[in-house]
Amino acid sequence: MSVEENLIQVRSTLPIGVQLVAVSKTHSDTEIMEAYNTGQRIFGENKVQELLRKWESLPKDIEWHFIGHLQSNKVRFIAPFIAMIHSVDSLKLLKTINDEGRRIGRVIPCLLQFHIASEESKFGLIPTSVDQLFSGIDLLGLDHIAFSGVMGMATFTDDVEMVKKEFSLLAALFQKLKRSYFPGEPDFREISMGMSDDYLLAIACGSTMVRIGSTIFGERCYISE
Ligand SMILES: *Cc1c(COP(=O)(O)O)cnc(C)c1O
Repeated sequence: MSVEENLIQVRSTLPIGVQLVAVSKTHSDTEIMEAYNTGQRIFGENKVQELLRKWESLPKDIEWHFIGHLQSNKVRFIAPFIAMIHSVDSLKLLKTINDEGRRIGRVIPCLLQFHIASEESKFGLIPTSVDQLFSGIDLLGLDHIAFSGVMGMATFTDDVEMVKKEFSLLAALFQKLKRSYFPGEPDFREISMGMSDDYLLAIACGSTMVRIGSTIFGERCYISE
Protein backbone atom coordinates (compact mmCIF):
# COMPACT_ATOMS: atom_id res chain seq x y z
CA MET A 1 0.00 0.00 0.00
CA SER A 2 1.13 3.55 -0.69
CA VAL A 3 1.61 6.27 1.92
CA GLU A 4 -1.56 7.87 0.62
CA GLU A 5 -3.60 4.68 0.98
CA ASN A 6 -2.18 4.03 4.45
CA LEU A 7 -3.02 7.55 5.57
CA ILE A 8 -6.57 7.32 4.28
CA GLN A 9 -6.97 4.00 6.07
CA VAL A 10 -5.60 5.34 9.37
CA ARG A 11 -7.67 8.51 9.18
CA SER A 12 -10.83 6.47 8.65
CA THR A 13 -10.27 4.88 12.07
CA LEU A 14 -9.83 8.15 14.00
CA PRO A 15 -12.80 9.70 15.77
CA ILE A 16 -13.37 13.43 15.41
CA GLY A 17 -11.23 15.28 17.92
CA VAL A 18 -8.27 12.90 17.76
CA GLN A 19 -5.32 14.47 15.96
CA LEU A 20 -2.88 12.48 13.89
CA VAL A 21 0.85 13.10 14.21
CA ALA A 22 2.46 11.35 11.25
CA VAL A 23 5.80 10.13 12.61
CA SER A 24 8.21 10.62 9.74
CA LYS A 25 11.54 9.91 11.46
CA THR A 26 14.03 8.16 9.14
CA HIS A 27 11.72 8.66 6.16
CA SER A 28 12.61 10.72 3.11
CA ASP A 29 11.34 14.10 1.97
CA THR A 30 9.62 12.32 -0.92
CA GLU A 31 7.64 10.09 1.42
CA ILE A 32 6.75 13.06 3.62
CA MET A 33 5.57 15.01 0.57
CA GLU A 34 3.34 12.10 -0.38
CA ALA A 35 1.62 12.45 2.99
CA TYR A 36 1.62 16.25 2.71
CA ASN A 37 -0.12 16.02 -0.65
CA THR A 38 -2.98 14.08 0.91
CA GLY A 39 -3.46 16.95 3.36
CA GLN A 40 -1.33 15.82 6.29
CA ARG A 41 0.28 18.79 8.04
CA ILE A 42 1.39 17.48 11.44
CA PHE A 43 4.60 15.47 11.40
CA GLY A 44 6.64 14.05 14.29
CA GLU A 45 10.41 13.76 14.49
CA ASN A 46 12.71 12.57 17.26
CA LYS A 47 16.18 13.80 16.27
CA VAL A 48 17.11 17.49 16.20
CA GLN A 49 19.55 17.23 13.27
CA GLU A 50 17.15 15.32 11.09
CA LEU A 51 14.30 17.66 11.97
CA LEU A 52 16.33 20.77 11.09
CA ARG A 53 17.22 19.36 7.71
CA LYS A 54 13.60 18.51 6.95
CA TRP A 55 12.28 21.81 8.28
CA GLU A 56 14.63 23.65 5.91
CA SER A 57 13.73 21.71 2.81
CA LEU A 58 10.01 21.01 3.25
CA PRO A 59 6.96 23.34 3.07
CA LYS A 60 6.75 25.93 5.81
CA ASP A 61 3.14 25.20 6.69
CA ILE A 62 4.11 21.83 8.16
CA GLU A 63 3.58 21.69 11.92
CA TRP A 64 6.59 19.88 13.31
CA HIS A 65 6.16 18.04 16.61
CA PHE A 66 9.20 16.93 18.55
CA ILE A 67 8.63 13.49 20.11
CA GLY A 68 12.11 12.27 21.11
CA HIS A 69 14.36 12.89 24.05
CA LEU A 70 15.47 16.53 23.88
CA GLN A 71 18.74 17.73 25.35
CA SER A 72 18.61 21.21 26.87
CA ASN A 73 21.53 22.41 24.77
CA LYS A 74 19.58 21.68 21.56
CA VAL A 75 16.40 23.55 22.46
CA ARG A 76 17.53 26.76 20.79
CA PHE A 77 17.75 25.09 17.37
CA ILE A 78 14.10 24.07 17.25
CA ALA A 79 12.51 26.77 19.44
CA PRO A 80 11.88 29.20 16.57
CA PHE A 81 9.56 26.89 14.65
CA ILE A 82 8.54 23.83 16.68
CA ALA A 83 4.75 23.50 16.92
CA MET A 84 4.79 21.23 19.97
CA ILE A 85 7.33 19.45 22.15
CA HIS A 86 5.83 16.16 23.39
CA SER A 87 8.79 15.03 25.42
CA VAL A 88 9.35 17.45 28.28
CA ASP A 89 10.70 15.15 30.97
CA SER A 90 12.55 17.38 33.40
CA LEU A 91 12.28 20.69 35.17
CA LYS A 92 15.60 21.72 33.70
CA LEU A 93 14.30 21.19 30.16
CA LEU A 94 11.10 23.08 30.96
CA LYS A 95 13.11 26.05 32.21
CA THR A 96 15.40 26.01 29.20
CA ILE A 97 12.44 25.98 26.80
CA ASN A 98 10.89 28.86 28.72
CA ASP A 99 14.11 30.90 28.62
CA GLU A 100 14.53 30.28 24.92
CA GLY A 101 10.87 31.15 24.25
CA ARG A 102 11.34 34.42 26.11
CA ARG A 103 14.52 35.22 24.22
CA ILE A 104 12.86 34.83 20.82
CA GLY A 105 9.37 36.01 21.81
CA ARG A 106 7.49 32.73 21.37
CA VAL A 107 5.21 30.79 23.67
CA ILE A 108 6.03 27.14 23.02
CA PRO A 109 3.39 24.40 23.37
CA CYS A 110 4.71 21.57 25.55
CA LEU A 111 3.48 18.21 26.79
CA LEU A 112 4.78 16.67 30.00
CA GLN A 113 6.09 13.19 29.23
CA PHE A 114 5.38 10.54 31.85
CA HIS A 115 6.97 7.17 32.30
CA ILE A 116 3.94 4.88 32.36
CA ALA A 117 5.45 1.67 31.00
CA SER A 118 6.75 -1.11 33.21
CA GLU A 119 9.78 -1.33 30.97
CA GLU A 120 13.01 0.26 32.02
CA SER A 121 13.41 3.67 30.44
CA LYS A 122 15.57 6.61 31.21
CA PHE A 123 12.96 9.10 30.09
CA GLY A 124 9.72 10.47 31.43
CA LEU A 125 8.55 12.04 34.66
CA ILE A 126 7.51 9.64 37.40
CA PRO A 127 3.72 9.87 37.89
CA THR A 128 3.90 9.67 41.69
CA SER A 129 6.44 12.47 41.96
CA VAL A 130 4.52 15.12 40.10
CA ASP A 131 3.31 17.04 43.16
CA GLN A 132 6.80 17.14 44.54
CA LEU A 133 8.07 18.34 41.19
CA PHE A 134 5.51 21.11 40.84
CA SER A 135 5.70 22.25 44.44
CA GLY A 136 9.17 23.60 43.79
CA ILE A 137 8.31 25.82 40.84
CA ASP A 138 6.25 28.81 39.92
CA LEU A 139 4.28 27.35 37.00
CA LEU A 140 2.71 30.67 36.08
CA GLY A 141 6.17 32.21 36.01
CA LEU A 142 6.98 29.93 33.08
CA ASP A 143 5.12 32.31 30.81
CA HIS A 144 6.72 31.19 27.56
CA ILE A 145 5.47 27.64 27.94
CA ALA A 146 1.95 26.73 26.83
CA PHE A 147 1.25 23.72 29.02
CA SER A 148 -0.76 21.66 26.58
CA GLY A 149 -1.14 18.27 28.22
CA VAL A 150 0.66 14.97 28.71
CA MET A 151 2.40 12.30 26.67
CA GLY A 152 3.34 8.70 27.36
CA MET A 153 4.32 5.39 25.82
CA ALA A 154 2.95 2.04 26.90
CA THR A 155 4.99 -1.10 27.37
CA PHE A 156 5.79 -2.95 24.13
CA THR A 157 3.80 -6.11 24.80
CA ASP A 158 0.90 -8.26 23.56
CA ASP A 159 -0.68 -7.99 27.00
CA VAL A 160 -3.68 -5.80 26.18
CA GLU A 161 -4.76 -5.45 29.80
CA MET A 162 -1.37 -4.14 30.78
CA VAL A 163 -1.31 -1.55 27.99
CA LYS A 164 -4.85 -0.51 28.87
CA LYS A 165 -3.84 -0.01 32.49
CA GLU A 166 -0.90 2.18 31.48
CA PHE A 167 -2.97 4.34 29.12
CA SER A 168 -5.65 4.69 31.79
CA LEU A 169 -3.01 5.79 34.26
CA LEU A 170 -1.90 8.56 31.90
CA ALA A 171 -5.50 9.67 31.31
CA ALA A 172 -6.11 9.82 35.07
CA LEU A 173 -2.91 11.75 35.57
CA PHE A 174 -4.01 14.25 32.94
CA GLN A 175 -7.31 14.79 34.79
CA LYS A 176 -5.52 15.22 38.09
CA LEU A 177 -3.04 17.74 36.68
CA LYS A 178 -5.80 19.66 34.98
CA ARG A 179 -7.74 19.90 38.25
CA SER A 180 -4.78 20.72 40.46
CA TYR A 181 -2.58 22.95 38.34
CA PHE A 182 -4.30 24.02 35.14
CA PRO A 183 -8.00 24.55 35.90
CA GLY A 184 -9.63 26.79 33.33
CA GLU A 185 -6.60 26.62 31.03
CA PRO A 186 -7.98 25.80 27.60
CA ASP A 187 -4.51 24.93 26.27
CA PHE A 188 -4.14 22.04 28.69
CA ARG A 189 -6.19 19.50 26.73
CA GLU A 190 -4.01 16.93 24.97
CA ILE A 191 -3.31 13.33 25.90
CA SER A 192 -0.67 12.18 23.43
CA MET A 193 -0.71 8.39 23.51
CA GLY A 194 -0.95 5.59 20.98
CA MET A 195 1.41 4.38 18.25
CA SER A 196 0.95 2.03 15.28
CA ASP A 197 0.37 -1.09 17.37
CA ASP A 198 -1.76 0.32 20.14
CA TYR A 199 -3.45 3.51 19.00
CA LEU A 200 -7.00 2.16 18.91
CA LEU A 201 -6.68 1.07 22.51
CA ALA A 202 -5.18 4.47 23.37
CA ILE A 203 -8.17 6.21 21.81
CA ALA A 204 -10.52 4.00 23.79
CA CYS A 205 -8.65 5.17 26.92
CA GLY A 206 -9.00 8.86 26.06
CA SER A 207 -6.15 9.75 23.71
CA THR A 208 -6.55 13.05 21.84
CA MET A 209 -3.37 12.75 19.79
CA VAL A 210 -1.92 9.59 18.25
CA ARG A 211 1.66 9.34 16.96
CA ILE A 212 1.74 6.89 14.06
CA GLY A 213 4.80 6.03 12.01
CA SER A 214 5.20 2.57 10.52
CA THR A 215 1.53 2.04 9.68
CA ILE A 216 1.72 5.11 7.45
CA PHE A 217 5.27 5.03 6.10
CA GLY A 218 6.20 1.36 6.41
CA GLU A 219 9.18 0.05 8.30
CA ARG A 220 11.78 2.63 9.25
CA CYS A 221 14.81 2.82 7.01
CA TYR A 222 17.75 3.76 9.20
CA ILE A 223 20.34 2.91 6.53
CA SER A 224 19.50 5.72 4.14
CA GLU A 225 19.94 8.39 6.83
C1 LIG B 1 8.73 6.23 16.57
C2 LIG B 1 7.77 6.78 17.55
C3 LIG B 1 6.38 6.66 17.34
C4 LIG B 1 5.77 5.93 16.17
O1 LIG B 1 5.96 4.56 16.27
P1 LIG B 1 5.28 3.52 15.25
O2 LIG B 1 5.25 2.26 16.00
O3 LIG B 1 6.16 3.48 14.04
O4 LIG B 1 3.92 4.03 14.92
C5 LIG B 1 5.54 7.24 18.28
N1 LIG B 1 6.03 7.89 19.36
C6 LIG B 1 7.34 8.03 19.59
C7 LIG B 1 7.79 8.76 20.80
C8 LIG B 1 8.25 7.47 18.70
O5 LIG B 1 9.57 7.61 18.94
